[in-house]
Amino acid sequence: HSAGEASLNSTWYTPSLKRGMEEKHALYFRLMEALDKGQIGVAYQPKVDATGRIVGAEALARWHEPRFPCSPGTFIPIAEELGLIHKLGLRVLGVVCRDLVHNDVLAMANIPISVNCSVRQLDHPDFLRNVQAVLGNYGIPPRRIVFEVTESVFADSGRRLSVLQSLQDSGHLLAIDDFGTGYSSFRYFRDLAPDILKIDQSFVRGIGLDPKCEIIVSSIIDLAHHLGAIVVAEGVETDLHYTWLRERGCDVFQGYRFSRPLSLHDILKWLPVGSTPSKS
Ligand code: C2E
Ligand code: MG
Ligand code: MG
Ligand code: MG
Repeated sequence: HSAGEASLNSTWYTPSLKRGMEEKHALYFRLMEALDKGQIGVAYQPKVDATGRIVGAEALARWHEPRFPCSPGTFIPIAEELGLIHKLGLRVLGVVCRDLVHNDVLAMANIPISVNCSVRQLDHPDFLRNVQAVLGNYGIPPRRIVFEVTESVFADSGRRLSVLQSLQDSGHLLAIDDFGTGYSSFRYFRDLAPDILKIDQSFVRGIGLDPKCEIIVSSIIDLAHHLGAIVVAEGVETDLHYTWLRERGCDVFQGYRFSRPLSLHDILKWLPVGSTPSKS
């Protein structure tokens, strides 16, 4: 043991914290390697309208590492904390753009694809330029990409709002993800007009069980519509959720009731057959 380690150990560096950090660093190097090797891919979860027709899909990051299965709930916060989220986000966007260009069925289906975007990504000075470069590289119209951000974008930064505004100005759609669980303040709707509000799944789960959740869900639907936004319910798992939400006027539905996140190959089955280009 070096003197440095000894002095760290004698102060705040407890064994359990040390183990936590070692695991984190191991994960950091594995994640960096995975990014370089192209092992970060995406799964697509369909979004449907009140008739069950697919109207969009959300791209969710997946780490294809059979030896250490690891979900976004684990690696996204670590990527954020250790400064890899910008690279990871561009990688996800790149995979989506590549799929949109190279897959005829997806290209012709003309549905928007959502990508998640952390606050940390917005804070990166090259974010807008890099996003434009990726889209330009593949020739993807901005309308086809929706950016999903959480309400944490509203915490203390005017710059973030202006980055989001720039995304909208260049033709992207903007969704507020997990709506109702973060820094909701009506004030922000004066500065920013999101195109989509996504009701957090914790509220959807309370439908039929908890009258308070039902009131919250109804209110979010009305709020979205009054603001001229489309409202998406996430975590729609049961027929009851679907029926209830449809009756309240919810526009778009996403959840296991319809489909889990799918590989590119499997989501093609959801797309209209008529959109297959002729091979002649
Ligand atoms: P999110 O953006 O709110 O995505 C929805 C999550 O709920 C996904 O988990 C999805 O698989 C899951 N889900 C969908 N339908 C249902 C359902 O009916 N029931 C339940 N219980 N869950 C459902 P996933 O893929 O594990 O992603 C978790 C979170 O990680 C995402 O939440 C998002 O915040 C973050 N994330 C995923 N991919 C990316 C990415 O590429 N970039 C960034 N910045 N964050 C990402
Ligand atoms: Mg999302
Ligand atoms: Mg969400
Ligand atoms: Mg979430």
